[in-house]
Amino acid sequence: MPIRSKDKITRRGFMEVTSGVVAAGVLASGEIPGTVFASGDLKQPLFGPALAKIALEEHFDFSATESVSYAAPGSPEFQRQIKDLGAGRIAEMDRGGVEVCILSLVGPGIQAITSTQQAVEVAKRANDHLAEHIAKNPKRLKGFAALALQDPQAAAQELTRCVKELGFCGALVNGFTQTGDAGSVSFYDLPQYRDFWSTVQQLDVPFYLHPRSALAAHQPAYQGHPWLTGSIWGFTAETSIHALRLMGSGLFDDYPRLKIIIGHLGEGLPCSIWRIDNRISRTLADRPKAKRPIGQYLRENFYITTSGNFRTQTLMEVMLEVGPERILYSVDYPFEDMGIAADWFDHVSISEADRLKIARTNAQQLFHF
Ligand code: MN
Repeated sequence: MPIRSKDKITRRGFMEVTSGVVAAGVLASGEIPGTVFASGDLKQPLFGPALAKIALEEHFDFSATESVSYAAPGSPEFQRQIKDLGAGRIAEMDRGGVEVCILSLVGPGIQAITSTQQAVEVAKRANDHLAEHIAKNPKRLKGFAALALQDPQAAAQELTRCVKELGFCGALVNGFTQTGDAGSVSFYDLPQYRDFWSTVQQLDVPFYLHPRSALAAHQPAYQGHPWLTGSIWGFTAETSIHALRLMGSGLFDDYPRLKIIIGHLGEGLPCSIWRIDNRISRTLADRPKAKRPIGQYLRENFYITTSGNFRTQTLMEVMLEVGPERILYSVDYPFEDMGIAADWFDHVSISEADRLKIARTNAQQLFHF
């Protein structure tokens, strides 16, 4: 893929900053002071420079999904944090310099409700619950729809309702869906989801592909190692293979304007993408259906957030692979700490122009804020 002139300037600037920092020996210590707002020609942030980030992988839970919630084993304090969509949530956002949170139902949530009728009903209740709280703080809180992909047509209808009637920003779905019984898993590259994707493209909203435990879909690999199934490794394995299925299926050839968001600095895909396309180009059998190299879809149809992966080396690798225009700040609250995320991001050794894009302006463009 040819490098656009805009990228050249940005990446050269990035490398200059980086090499200067390395020479000064302060890369690892993060001692470069960060000022998130250096440019004067953007909409004025609500709370000034220190309180201006937009975060979009931030979770809530409510009573109807407690039986299918990764929050369930959490401490009483954690339970309070994840259910709080009022003053406590806003205080945490203030502490982390986050002006706007786009909230989503905690995983695996709707995707693990095997009764289709119940999944459809609980998704609607979750979205109404979220909308009620957003209405009390509309400048600080926004929402992603929870969707019952057990019924693709109902999911398309609910997304349409959430976007057009509730003002939601798109959808966040927790990986594959179990339909009918726990062993029956559906990935969204399958033919029954094509009309759903047509609706997503028509609505012009992003779809956040959030991880879930890999156990139900890949059981033998995890046998005897339950510690591997969740956010330690299984989340990354499950979401990266799901994203590759979407890319390889030709979905983005049919719907080229789809926008998919993945978290955790890309679930390992940016560091693997060259090898993926290299091996495809040198393989005669078992090629993907997609018309273009996989890396082109990663760079043109995907956005990547910093959620739960506050690692400077990884951020730099993702910036070099997809460019700073494709990266968005996120925390993964309350699984991660707002303050730790902000301390890292506000001081990480990138240019102030790139910090502003990742903190805020990329999200403003993507969500039309
Ligand atoms: Mn998360």
